[in-house]
Amino acid sequence: MMTVYDIIIAGAGPAGLTAALYARRAGKTVLLIEKESFGGQIVLSPLVENYPFTKPLSGTELVDSLVNAVLSLGAEICVDTVTGVTKNEDGSLLVKTEYDSFTARSLIIATGLKHRRLGLEGEASFIGKGISFCAVCDGAFFKGKTVAVIGGGNTAVQDAIYLSKLCKKVYLIHRRDRFRAEKKVVDGLDACTNVELIMNSKVVKLSGSDKIESITVESTVDGSMQVLNVEGIFAAVGQEPNNAAFSELVDLDDAGFVIAGENCCTKQPNIFAAGDCRTKSVRQLVTAGADGGVSAIAACEYIDSNF
Ligand code: NAP
Repeated sequence: MMTVYDIIIAGAGPAGLTAALYARRAGKTVLLIEKESFGGQIVLSPLVENYPFTKPLSGTELVDSLVNAVLSLGAEICVDTVTGVTKNEDGSLLVKTEYDSFTARSLIIATGLKHRRLGLEGEASFIGKGISFCAVCDGAFFKGKTVAVIGGGNTAVQDAIYLSKLCKKVYLIHRRDRFRAEKKVVDGLDACTNVELIMNSKVVKLSGSDKIESITVESTVDGSMQVLNVEGIFAAVGQEPNNAAFSELVDLDDAGFVIAGENCCTKQPNIFAAGDCRTKSVRQLVTAGADGGVSAIAACEYIDSNF
């Protein structure tokens, strides 16, 4: 007979892992499905200093400890990609993956999001060695140094402003002549004397032996090149949720985030969304963890009142 899980959790980042922890502590059967590696984006962070109740740890250490806790509590795991979810006649959910399918009474979508990559040669090898995707998480490592922020949206401009308070100099490099960021956010740059704007320009080359040492920037106007010596690059070229597999049953906003409020509820009574994959304004480790707890408690309440 097919196992019917109480809760399937799609995504094993901080939100999904925390949801699994809460659900197992509540005695529910849990299957955690992760398509890549456990931990999500936080494993890219060399040191996490802004998570309360623990001494600073690397993202990997933090995730290892959470994964161990979840496994020791008896959550089942499966490395596979969720490809679709449909409702069975009895209201339970059929969660299809690339290689299998599973049935659950409820589902927590915790698929996180991926920072868009720059698409430059050698980029992957410099992640954690000069390339960061999170100024708030990693800015402190570049105190007194020269860094570049790439992008023209709210994140890039806010990152540049944030880093200007820590770093000696910040280049803000944007491929167009005007920012996508809101005026109010851009106005904040006026007070930052150590931020140099390099507009109409794109980074075409990353250089460094072990860590980032310099970047080559090309003008989109006249093709001229310049080499900038930087020790850090903050890539803020947008983020991509990956929720298409759930779009039959839950609503997604224009950017692809699952529409759910602070209670993590979607329009389906037994589908919840937790962490960065849902519509929310603050995407941080603590808020992902909080969502994990909230969504698991909501799923447990649904199960307790319906089965
Ligand atoms: P975003 O608004 O999508 O901006 C991404 C930026 O990166 C754009 O300026 C884009 O250039 C540029 N870009 C994209 N691909 C690139 C590439 N390959 N090379 C170089 N540049 C590239 O992303 P975001 O800033 O992360 O913001 C995401 C969402 O969160 C937005 O809706 C934003 O408003 C919101 N947000 C809000 C706040 C807030 O305080 N209200 C703070 C942060 C984020 P183009 O402009 O040329 O397309």
